Amino acid sequence: MTAYDALQEHIAALNDLLNVLNILKWDTRTQMPPGGSQTRGYQLATVSRLAREHFTSETTARLLDAAEKEIAGEDPDSYRVRAVQQTRQYYEIVRRIPADLLARRATLAPISEQVWHEAKQHNDFARFAPYLQQMLDLAREQAEAIGYEEHPFDALVFEYEPSMTAAKLQALFDALKAGLLPLLEQIVAHDRPLEKDLWAREYPLDRQRAFALEMAQRIGYDLERGRLDVAPHPFEISFTRHDVRITTRYDLHYWPMAFFGTLHEAGHALYEQNVDPALTRTALTTDFLGQYAVGGTSYGAHEASSRLWENLIGRSRAFWGAHFGRLREVFPEQLADADADLFYRAVNRVRPSLIRVEADEVTYNLHIMLRVEIEMGLLDGSLRVSDLPEVWRAKMKEYLGVVPETDSQGPLQDVHWSGGSFGSFPGYTVGNVMSAQLLDAARQQVSGLDDALTAGDYAPLLGWLTEHFYRHGRAYSADEILQRCTGRPLHVEPYLAYLRGKFSDLYGLQ
Ligand code: ZN
Repeated sequence: MTAYDALQEHIAALNDLLNVLNILKWDTRTQMPPGGSQTRGYQLATVSRLAREHFTSETTARLLDAAEKEIAGEDPDSYRVRAVQQTRQYYEIVRRIPADLLARRATLAPISEQVWHEAKQHNDFARFAPYLQQMLDLAREQAEAIGYEEHPFDALVFEYEPSMTAAKLQALFDALKAGLLPLLEQIVAHDRPLEKDLWAREYPLDRQRAFALEMAQRIGYDLERGRLDVAPHPFEISFTRHDVRITTRYDLHYWPMAFFGTLHEAGHALYEQNVDPALTRTALTTDFLGQYAVGGTSYGAHEASSRLWENLIGRSRAFWGAHFGRLREVFPEQLADADADLFYRAVNRVRPSLIRVEADEVTYNLHIMLRVEIEMGLLDGSLRVSDLPEVWRAKMKEYLGVVPETDSQGPLQDVHWSGGSFGSFPGYTVGNVMSAQLLDAARQQVSGLDDALTAGDYAPLLGWLTEHFYRHGRAYSADEILQRCTGRPLHVEPYLAYLRGKFSDLYGLQ
């Protein structure tokens, strides 16, 4: 056996352990009764410890040394070289994070998530605050262990978006705000209610589920290697490309929630399901830090895929031109007096609102900026946990002009912080920006792409994304992927041009 193969065999066992953790996490969030949270914490801690011991062992060091000698001089862009490089990079980082810190976080996370869930239900921020404080302290400890130059946020965002820092994000945010705020102002001034309120009607849940799943399959989600469940905070998770699961949640009246939630998570799933099969159980599909960007290269790259399918495709005029007829077959009474154009306008109405996951495309990034700024403040100590409800209200008023009446609609709305995830929010905005850059490139490189999309044929787009993006797994960074297939690193212009074009048309702006 070659040294490279010996290292891959060793990493394959790590990959198995990390996927066992993911199965436990999936179960925690979809099936587990509340009473199971404490023992689940022990289970997660034990498997995390085994994974860490396996990876930080002397065996890994020995196999890495040998593999590095063997691949010396090979093509630096080859999968072999990238696999060894990434194993080395994460080996050094993971060894810097103390085992007991990981064990404490793994034990606390499911309890904290359970308390968050109850606090959100009862609008009781004070109940959740001590758990948030503990999770924040653990995150600070982790940032110190990993190390950073300018801001503790840099160490944490690295886990999700390796090419991002607090300073780079601020520059990206500034460029976005300069484009978004004037656009939003114009839209709000031109907004008027639609002639019919489609969401005042009831959409039976079983038919919502069936249609959402039909469209998820239509864009390419493979149910032989997937399934759809219910979760209060929807997510996608994979245990190799052969088992890629999605979740959604339902509202009897507000049909868009379950549908676009499903399409979003299916967009994540397409990334995982289309990674090169040769990368299964290798370093290039191993999420060494145990986050959720499992087979993908970063959170932002993953969000680029989910947002491309949810928004750029799923909320397009072409999509509803192709599928509104089918939707009306599923909901004949509810949609008897609607047509594709009204429906397109109804699913793209821009209104500053309180809840991030229900935000439209224009206001969404403002919700993200608010969270990222709060995370940075909590991490560098300029904000305290007890300040959170008030700071939240102030920032909502400043960016969106609306203020939540309850903390459930404010700082308790998202699951992220309860599980100890700090640094993951920027990925949503990076993903939005990246999605437009990718679709632009696909349009230029695939002849007849728009005709195919108008006909409801997604195979050409999925094929292009697979060839240039999905199949590489974690071999190339988000910036490298963009450079390779669009000729430029991440930049905001295609995204701002997309939003300006779409919403100027929808709202009759100049
Ligand atoms: Zn997502």
